[in-house]
Amino acid sequence: KERGRANWVRYAGGMERPASAHARLGGDLRRALDAGEFRIVYQPIVSLDDGRIVGVEALVRWEHPERGMVSPIDFIPAAERTGLIVPLGRWVLRETCRQAAAWIAEFGPDVLDKAAPNVSVRQLHDPDFVADVAAALADAGLPSNRLVLELTESAVLRGQHVSQVLHELHDMGVRLALDDFGTGESSLSLLRAFPAAIVKLDKSFVDGIELDEPDTPAAHARQAVARAVAQLADALGLDTVAEGIESQEQADRLLRLGYHVGQGYHLGRPMPPEQLTELLAARRVKAAA
Ligand code: C2E
Ligand code: MG
Ligand code: MG
Ligand code: MG
Repeated sequence: KERGRANWVRYAGGMERPASAHARLGGDLRRALDAGEFRIVYQPIVSLDDGRIVGVEALVRWEHPERGMVSPIDFIPAAERTGLIVPLGRWVLRETCRQAAAWIAEFGPDVLDKAAPNVSVRQLHDPDFVADVAAALADAGLPSNRLVLELTESAVLRGQHVSQVLHELHDMGVRLALDDFGTGESSLSLLRAFPAAIVKLDKSFVDGIELDEPDTPAAHARQAVARAVAQLADALGLDTVAEGIESQEQADRLLRLGYHVGQGYHLGRPMPPEQLTELLAARRVKAAA
């Protein structure tokens, strides 16, 4: 009996812990947003033909006072669950537009063409989202065709309301990118219904793309998918970006498969804005020379 009771107590404790930990993280995120603890790092998106930077992806980080830099993988799910992703995502959007406009004013659109923040499905369901995007662009003085919103397939699949929001954004001139493409469920039908401009081939299809003789049937299939996605995008008039390129061999192979734009540690790590400013300044000098 005693043991039964001890077990029950332990069990109940175990049940409580995750929920209260989530609640604590939710409250912590709110506090962090108010305290200005979020940062944005920018990763170059690069032409595989000539190495030019054609855009940047904005990736959020949490500079926690005790835990140091926290990865979005560790707090975006909680931010989505608690709804804090709506104000956090709005901040990322506004800050990215402001920073992109400053870079374009300083270096010109030849040195940086586009900036791309990520958008969660919760944001697409926020009734103010389209107005928030319009206001972020207007306040920053950023032309709408310089903004790319990165969405996942699963976010885009959710029904009539989202579809209308996406068409309104499209009509504003904002470009939409399907992130992590190939990992979702109904990629083909989605591409027809969705006003996408860009397809981002997921990193999982880039891993091993450089191998002449893929060692497993699965690796073979991934190469076939990468090739098919390039052809499909081409047929539908969509641009492509290959994600997670970690070597020159991968970049070369992707170029041969029909990918002209890529992103990955080999081409440039996500970096703080000051560092990207230096990189853009160096590019401008090179372009002028
Ligand atoms: P994502 O949008 O697919 O972003 C690409 C992720 O791959 C980034 O991870 C980037 O740092 C990483 N990456 C880029 N090149 C390479 C490479 O060559 N090798 C490897 N191994 N990784 C590479 P990060 O910054 O940790 O972000 C993870 C995910 O968190 C993002 O995936 C995105 O889904 C989400 N996320 C990041 N920032 C935001 C945000 O502001 N809002 C929302 N809703 N989600 C965000
Ligand atoms: Mg992304
Ligand atoms: Mg991605
Ligand atoms: Mg990805």
